[in-house]
Amino acid sequence: MNEKLHLTGFSKTEIAEFVGQIGEPKYRAKQIFKGLHARRLLSFEEMTDLPKAFRKKLNETATASTLKVESRYVSTDGTRRFLMKTHDNFPVETVFIPTENRDTICFSSQSGCPLKCDFCLTAKLGLLRNLTAGEIVEQIIIVLNDVYGVSAETPHGTNLVAMGAGEPFLNYENLIKALGIMADEEGLFIVPNRVTVSTAGIVPKIYEFAKLEKRPNLAISLSAPSDELRDKLMPINKRWNIEQLLPAAKEFEKTLRRGERFTFEYVLLGGINDSDAHARDLANLLDEYELQKVKINLIAHNPAEPLEYHPPGFEQVERFKTILKSKGVSAYVRRPRGRDIYAACGQLAAMKG
Ligand code: SF4
Repeated sequence: MNEKLHLTGFSKTEIAEFVGQIGEPKYRAKQIFKGLHARRLLSFEEMTDLPKAFRKKLNETATASTLKVESRYVSTDGTRRFLMKTHDNFPVETVFIPTENRDTICFSSQSGCPLKCDFCLTAKLGLLRNLTAGEIVEQIIIVLNDVYGVSAETPHGTNLVAMGAGEPFLNYENLIKALGIMADEEGLFIVPNRVTVSTAGIVPKIYEFAKLEKRPNLAISLSAPSDELRDKLMPINKRWNIEQLLPAAKEFEKTLRRGERFTFEYVLLGGINDSDAHARDLANLLDEYELQKVKINLIAHNPAEPLEYHPPGFEQVERFKTILKSKGVSAYVRRPRGRDIYAACGQLAAMKG
């Protein structure tokens, strides 16, 4: 059991308070914050700008790292999946997805997930526990260090997506705190418009999120154009159905600035939600709720045992997209990444292989 304070999840103000409590001058807080986030150091020992005695004192009550990388898998497409463990032995998964001009890190907000989306392997784990703000931030630090080296400049901008294991809006406070820490210009400096939070539809939190002054982007996982089908695929729909979800999406839409859009994710499951009629119903639904600044990300299901679903054929995915476009809806097909290492959407379930 790790009972030390995990300073990686402390805001600048909290670090200053902590430093004050142990009788050290305030400027030490800034050094620690920079050491943790700008230099991405995972131990106080490496913070050689701090006096040795102070580092020793820090180690007595605090820590800069609580996650342990258990395994690391590299896909033929360059995607990397990290399977980590918390100090109390719960799995945490993070995925690094390189693209030409930017990097994307897909992080987890919970260990496991309490929601039971039928097409998702993570759902099989159930909720193990919420991750702390420190555990969220540390995932990003570990990945950046693995890819570029400790303290090294990151040549590309880093985009973050809260689309790993867990429902981010069920760990709202820790998520928002972690994102605030990561946005700090004296630290990782990953600003909100480089971040996308994906929800399965926790409606009250969508309203709360929309009101944040510096809010990240939003993606809503929809995956069905009717309650009947969505109830089966995403049981959270029984708690907040489409009639409740889409007005919340509309409210969020109102907060978008010029040129901004938000996303609906639609996982295409062969023979289940991928017909021409489903595509038309989806376009009509957006029309009914007057959602105009939306883009639809179509994600062909990533097969994963023991899930029984299969992806539609390439042609049907294209047809689905074309129907949406013919009705004036922006639609994109998301290219699967890291399927061979169980790193793709819906595949995160602490698989060792
Ligand atoms: S799709 Fe997301 S919200 Fe649904 S069970 Fe999987 S991890 Fe949870």
